[in-house]
Amino acid sequence: MSLRFFNSLTRQIEDFQPLESGRVRMYTCGPTVYNHAHIGNFRAYVFEDLLQRHLEFRGFKVERVMNLTDVDDKTIRGCRAQGVPLAEFTKPFKQAFFEDLAALRMRSDGQFPEATADVHIARMIEMIGTLVERGHAYRAEDGSVYFRIGSFPPYGQLAHYNLEELKPSGRVSSDEYEKEQIGDFALWKTWTAADGDVSWESPWGRGRPGWHIECSAMATGLLGPQLDIHCGGEDNIFPHHEAEIAQSECVTGLPFVRLWMHCKHLLVEGKKMAKSEGNFFTFRDLAARGWTGREVRYTLLAVKYREPLNFTFESLEAARKSLARFDEWSRRLEGGSAGTAEMLPPELDPEKFGAALDEDLNISAALGALFDLIRDSNRLFDEGALSPGQARSLLAWRDRINSVLALAPDVENIPEDVAKLAARRAEARAGKDWAASDALRDRLLALGWQVKDTKDGQKLSPKG
Ligand code: AMP
Ligand code: ZN
Repeated sequence: MSLRFFNSLTRQIEDFQPLESGRVRMYTCGPTVYNHAHIGNFRAYVFEDLLQRHLEFRGFKVERVMNLTDVDDKTIRGCRAQGVPLAEFTKPFKQAFFEDLAALRMRSDGQFPEATADVHIARMIEMIGTLVERGHAYRAEDGSVYFRIGSFPPYGQLAHYNLEELKPSGRVSSDEYEKEQIGDFALWKTWTAADGDVSWESPWGRGRPGWHIECSAMATGLLGPQLDIHCGGEDNIFPHHEAEIAQSECVTGLPFVRLWMHCKHLLVEGKKMAKSEGNFFTFRDLAARGWTGREVRYTLLAVKYREPLNFTFESLEAARKSLARFDEWSRRLEGGSAGTAEMLPPELDPEKFGAALDEDLNISAALGALFDLIRDSNRLFDEGALSPGQARSLLAWRDRINSVLALAPDVENIPEDVAKLAARRAEARAGKDWAASDALRDRLLALGWQVKDTKDGQKLSPKG
């Protein structure tokens, strides 16, 4: 088994090998907390979640960092407009982000550093100091510190821009800009009245960091000088990731990232879903219309990350139908499995799913393999040709692939008496009282609940 991914830097599919065997250091640009993240943002996060889960499925240990941008041009504009301190302005958006993350079943056990934390601001200042010392940065007449792009010849490599053709146009102080404005970019922005009370002391006076140095500081501060994977949406390539490479490599002297992965945008009627376009839906908008986190997750997940994904309500309908098939099949397996696991019949190939993901995270092919297997195993069931032991094997396989997909049905509203019996059974098992545990399993079954023991403890589900 070897994993292969498309590297935006080389524009080639490459074999994946982390720097340290078995361990993956992964950094992903997180939300700018000036608003609720929209489902375009979540397309990027769901893709990254799938990537992490698949790497883990293949046995890698993934160290994951996703930053929260809680100071930049946009957050400052927002807090000034509302007349509240920056931290007060960003707090509800941070909270909402974690709620949405849970609703969309994304892993939240990595690190989520906040740019305004003292430790990260200190590292940004330290990095800028090093860049100034080494001649990669300078203080301009406006008091701000800029990165000198002419001091880093590879600048433009990730976006595949040729600087000579583009003719740098001086300096840019804003965090985001088009390639027409290519130029020295701000590392430290000197305080102006528009910043209100948002500022930190630095060797260059009161001011605040530019957006790009925030990610370089949090990434190298938390994961070390070299990352295995860095991800984001395709709009992050320039200027953000280009700037991250320049800043980080000029400080550490080492190649910053081995594999750059970028997802294509989520589109609405052919246009990027973006706050600035006003064509966006948040997860909350969709939840208010009755769509569940699982359905939205499926919709965002189902198209390969390097294909544009056009958002429509029909795609949500299709997700709902696919999930209903998955659930019905799951119930059938749960109802039909017994005894010990047995070899699957040769026409069911459980390896295709993972193999599709190994090849540049081809989720469309992986889901295709899953639904083929559902169709074929249903046929075998109908023909009475699938034994209870084989159904048990399929169920175990479903759980394994669900660790990647996170699409199994929610088990909600477990009645209190059922929950109490389940708790007693967990206790009995912990005390190795197998007879009591079995008796409690039967009582749960009689109440219509099936219990399964997994490495994460027992799992309850309604009897199929
Ligand atoms: P932002 O909060 O704008 O910094 O964006 C956070 C993340 O969402 C970045 O990785 C962006 O590249 C990504 N992103 C923003 N809009 C979209 C979109 N329409 N489709 C996919 N990813 C997006
Ligand atoms: Zn970033």
